[in-house]
Amino acid sequence: METKSHEQLHIFFFPYMAQGHSIPLIDMAKIFASHGVKSTLITTPLNAPLFSKAIQSSKELGFKIELIVIRFPTEEVGLPLGCESASLATTNEMKEKFFRATTLLQPQLEQILDQQRPHCLLADTFFPWATDVAAKFGIPRLIFHGTGFFPLCASLSVILYEPHLKVSSDSEVFTIPNFPVEIKLTGSQIPAFLKTNVETEFTKLYKASKACEERSYGVIVNSFYELEPVYADHYRKVFGRKAWHIGPVSLCNKAVEDKAEMRGMEASFDEHECLNWLNSKKPNSVVYICFGSMTNFTDPQLFEIALGLEASGREFIWVVKKEKKEKEEWLPEGFEKRIEGKGLIIRGWAPQVLILEHEAIGGFVTHCGWNSILEGVSSGVPMITWPVSAEQFYNEKLLTEILRIGVAVGVQQWATFVDVKQEASVKREAIEKAVTEIMVGDEAEEIRSRAKALQEMARRAVEEGGSSFSDLTAVIEELKSLRV
Ligand code: UDP
Repeated sequence: METKSHEQLHIFFFPYMAQGHSIPLIDMAKIFASHGVKSTLITTPLNAPLFSKAIQSSKELGFKIELIVIRFPTEEVGLPLGCESASLATTNEMKEKFFRATTLLQPQLEQILDQQRPHCLLADTFFPWATDVAAKFGIPRLIFHGTGFFPLCASLSVILYEPHLKVSSDSEVFTIPNFPVEIKLTGSQIPAFLKTNVETEFTKLYKASKACEERSYGVIVNSFYELEPVYADHYRKVFGRKAWHIGPVSLCNKAVEDKAEMRGMEASFDEHECLNWLNSKKPNSVVYICFGSMTNFTDPQLFEIALGLEASGREFIWVVKKEKKEKEEWLPEGFEKRIEGKGLIIRGWAPQVLILEHEAIGGFVTHCGWNSILEGVSSGVPMITWPVSAEQFYNEKLLTEILRIGVAVGVQQWATFVDVKQEASVKREAIEKAVTEIMVGDEAEEIRSRAKALQEMARRAVEEGGSSFSDLTAVIEELKSLRV
């Protein structure tokens, strides 16, 4: 379809239904809107109220940002009504149904594209069919992977060369082939779905999402060049992907409200109360522990975390995805009483960015989800790495070996978000040791100063003249030029 070059550039943003994907894509839509682009976000009824809240401040500033709500086909696949976010699909069977439901969204996307005729579709990697839909309407499809250049390169190399299949056991060490530096991993740290021929809804989706990459126009990455320059170049030159980095996107949120309850979920703890608590603490004295939106540990693992934190003697904010109950097996006897004033347990959803940015936070125990990493980097906080699933074991290597702003707690085994429920693989001693290492001593100071330097670079990258700002301008100009 031919469009007029003076028309305002209009982009559709279509995030996968999981907080780790929708939070950064909402931020991206806001960023593009603040640069004069008409941004339309697509989501489903359950997620819509939070999306609306999240874009409210941009709307009030007069930016063109809209929301379109499509139906999530829970009934067609036999999911309970309202199961419209990946974190609500808690069993393997539900996850499979969830993946299948997402493939049924295609006709609705086509319908709204037909009605609105945007100039570009920025869709999540988990919607591989979006490339064909965009082609049907003659517009470019951009991919959002939800992760950075280093893990993108590492996973492409692992898929291409299959080093984990060339070792004799899962505990044997191998290095990632054709990679800019030597990174050692074991087979047990590689996603299980890469080691099996069993076909599932997820493996089908994963393969399709890889297959559509070369047919798509390009990739938008939530990262900044100075964080991973070698891997940004490698991704573009060696893997030949057209990519623009425009992050850290979370830095677009300036108001307390934007950093708090509007990010992903309603916060379970009043943000002002949280800030008051942090205000009473010394700079760099508090450890923040949170494992993202998908990971739910077993009671024995939570029990070990509690004892490890207590043994470290540090003050902490610990986010636990558990509701208050009469009998709580995961809490050591008398724990809450003993930690009164020293430790804060947030049950449910925490205002993570707000917490990380507070000067009292001195360390972050993270599962190495890409958003958490970038939010930690943007706040200048050293990290304790506790990877669980997805590409998180690659991300750990970036933090501990390349950037050297993290200390590993020592996890060896990749797990699905469901399998993780089985045992306490990390013991209290390892937790205590890692917390102490990151919080006290000369080495801790060195880690902290590297983290602070990166924080500065992150902030500069998104300012006018910075690397992310330039890439953002470049992609907007390129998309504008394609309209004629
Ligand atoms: N998050 C939050 N509060 C929580 C848990 C997570 O605000 O209690 C946000 C976090 O700031 C990040 C996102 O949810 O933006 C999680 O994304 P990440 O890539 O770190 O992990 P995932 O949830 O995808 O495993």
